[in-house]
Parts: sequence; structure tokens; C-alpha cells
Amino acid sequence: MSTLTLFKGVRHWKSGERITVAVEDGVIVPMPKRGHEHARVIEVAGAVLAPGLVDLHVHLREPGQSGKETIETGTRAAAAGGFTAVACMPNTVPVVDTPAWVEWVLHRAEGAAAARVYPIAAVTQGQKGEQLAPLQAMAKAGAVAFSDDGHPIASAAMMRRALEYARATGLPIVCHEEDPTLRADGVMNEGFTATRLGLRGIPNAAESVMCRRDADLAELTGARVHLAHVSTAQGFDALRDAKRRGVPVTGETCPHYWTLTDEAVGDYDTDAKMNPPLRSAEDRAACIAAIADGTIDCFATDHAPHTADEKARPFAEAPFGIVGLETALALTITHLVLPGHLTLARAIELWTDAPRRVFNLPEVDLEPGSTADLVLFDPDAQWAVEPELFFSKGRNTPFGGRTLHGRVLATMMGGRFTHLAPEIEFEHTLVLPAAETA
Ligand SMILES: [Zn+2]
Repeated sequence: MSTLTLFKGVRHWKSGERITVAVEDGVIVPMPKRGHEHARVIEVAGAVLAPGLVDLHVHLREPGQSGKETIETGTRAAAAGGFTAVACMPNTVPVVDTPAWVEWVLHRAEGAAAARVYPIAAVTQGQKGEQLAPLQAMAKAGAVAFSDDGHPIASAAMMRRALEYARATGLPIVCHEEDPTLRADGVMNEGFTATRLGLRGIPNAAESVMCRRDADLAELTGARVHLAHVSTAQGFDALRDAKRRGVPVTGETCPHYWTLTDEAVGDYDTDAKMNPPLRSAEDRAACIAAIADGTIDCFATDHAPHTADEKARPFAEAPFGIVGLETALALTITHLVLPGHLTLARAIELWTDAPRRVFNLPEVDLEPGSTADLVLFDPDAQWAVEPELFFSKGRNTPFGGRTLHGRVLATMMGGRFTHLAPEIEFEHTLVLPAAETA
């Protein structure tokens, strides 16, 4: 007989009501009428149950860079952060730019992954911006979107052609918006801190001119553009304007943009180096405003693990990127929900239903029949970020040592626990009394 799992007396993520949810054989089932021989009960006062979180922007580093991360360690980090699905970027070694590499990622994930893995395939061969990759065939192989993330497509004509081909697949092109000529050899935000440190800056316009170009090309072609990790006031404005015009553009932003400013670079801290860079206080305020007014469609982490050696290089030479999966939910609760910018329900929606809609992924809810992809978390529990305890191989976070609110207690994918906080104990009942389950 299969095991029945009961989440007993938990709070519904949307309504706040106290509910009990039963899971059997990978799906949510109605409460059994009679006793059950193999049942386990998980009950934590005040805990919230929600569909598993989804991260549309993750670097799992396989194939080719398993020193930084693997599909196994990256998805274990995802599970620890409450995620049941991640979409992984193709800027690997080699680049995922053929149907065979899309299949390789899916196959690799099958055995090893602690979360559902949805590959994003490259737009151009080798992400070089010169020759289109076989978009149609990669979509058929299982790609959920296309992106040259990290290597923005400089040529507008190439982008137009890519969008024309992508339109036939129905999949979006995810755009890392940065004009390469404006970025040049910039390593952080252009502004006072960069001047103080003698580092080359990247202006806001590097992002916004590309946001506006690609919104116009989405309008021209009718294809879907998804703006990745928007970070600037002008970028949010470009997204807002495009939506007002009815252009098929969506956009995401990341926890570090609503949490930090470029002052976090402090004294050449490479754990505060990412691309796009941390911006000014005005940009951070614009980020929060764009989230609150619905301009931003969903959240994503841009989880970008690197080795300690790489991040120990001088600031200008260290790679861009920070890890994000294991702090995402807590940064959302601590810096958006607690200060009153968002309700908890809306904040969770931006990590669950919203990204599923953007990439057209299967829906998950808490009703019988739904796949049991779930997260149980305590929104009030405080914990200190200790990077050495991360499941990710990456320790490169600017949040080490911070105390945050919101702790993931359990993550379940397809009815199987992929993460359990050490304090979680099951109450095992051999025969569940009918009264308990009614
Ligand atoms: Zn990027």
C-alpha cells in the first residue's frame, strides 16, 4: 500500500485558511474517508503550504563546469530554497545550442535532479550572435525558451530574425539586456562607488536601450520577449511602456535588486559583483515600485555559482554572479512582505503561478488531482545565512551572516520530499483514525 502524507492544519498560501492536504502516489488526493495503514503526518503551527516555487533563471553549470555546480547540487539547493522547478541557462561548456544538448540536460536531470529541470536553449550557435541555432528542433527536444543570456545579441537584425523563428515555436526569447558597446569593460554600476573604488562603470542606459529595442522588435514580429533580471529605473519604465502598448513582453527581477545597492560592493567585495550590477538607491526604489504596480511579471534568482578561487581574484577580474536559490524566499519575505510592499500571497504568486504562466509550465495548486509539487514554510521563523551550509557548491553570496525571516521547512516534488529541515519530525500512524481525517 502506498504512503499517505498529511500536511495537517497548515495555512493556505492564498486564503490564509487552516487546511489539511493529503498526498498519495504523487498527487493531492481528497481526505480519505477511512483509516490508512501507512500514513505520516507533518504538522507545524503557523506554517504555510504553497505550490512549489519556480525559478526561471538558474545556472546549473552542466555540461562542462561541474566545479562550480552540477544539476544535482544546483537542484538540491533549489529544493532547500523551496523550489520544485528551475529553468537552466545554456551558457555552459559547450553551449546548449543543439537538440542533442537539450536532451542531454533532460536526461542528466532524470536521474540526479531534486527539482524539475526545464532547459533554456541558446538563440545563436555558441551564443556568438552570428548564426541562428535550430530553434524549432530544440523546442521539439524540450526547450522551454531561448536565450543568449550573458552574451546579449548585439545585432538588431539578428534579433529580429531570431524572434521571427521563435514565434513559430510559441516560446519566448529571454533577453539579458545590455548593449555591449555601452557596457564595454565595466565591472560595476556607474556612479559614486565606482568612482571611489576606481572601477569602470556600466551605465543604466546599457540596459534600457536594449529593453526598448527588443520591445520594439517584439512589436514588429509579434514574438514573445521576456526581459531577464531587470535592474534599472529606465529598464522598468521600458517594460511598463511596452505593456501599455500591448506588446508581448514580460519581465523578471531578482532579490538582490530590491535588497541591495552598489554600496554593497564596499571595499571590492566580489560577492557583490553580478551582471547586471547592483544599482543606485533610486533604482532599488524603482524596482520595488515596479513589483508593487504589476510591471514585473515574476521573480527569478539568476543563481550563478562560481568557485571560491574565481571569486578570490581582484574585483575587475572576478566573474560576475551570485548564488540565490537558498535565500530567495527569505529575502522576499524580509524585504518585500514585512515592510508592506506586497502581501504574502502576492509575493508567493510571483514565485509560483506567475513564472509558470510566463513559461507555460504545468499548473500546480492545492486541490485534489494536482501534482504534489509543494513547499511548506514558516514565514515568521528567523535564520542566519551561513553560506558554508548551502547545498549549492557556490558560496558566493552577499547575504552571508544576515538574519532573515522565512524558513523553508519541507519541499515535495511529485509526492517525494526533496528537502526537509532538520527540525521536521513526522508523526507516523499505522492506522489513521477516521476522525483525524474527516
Ligand atoms: Zn544574464
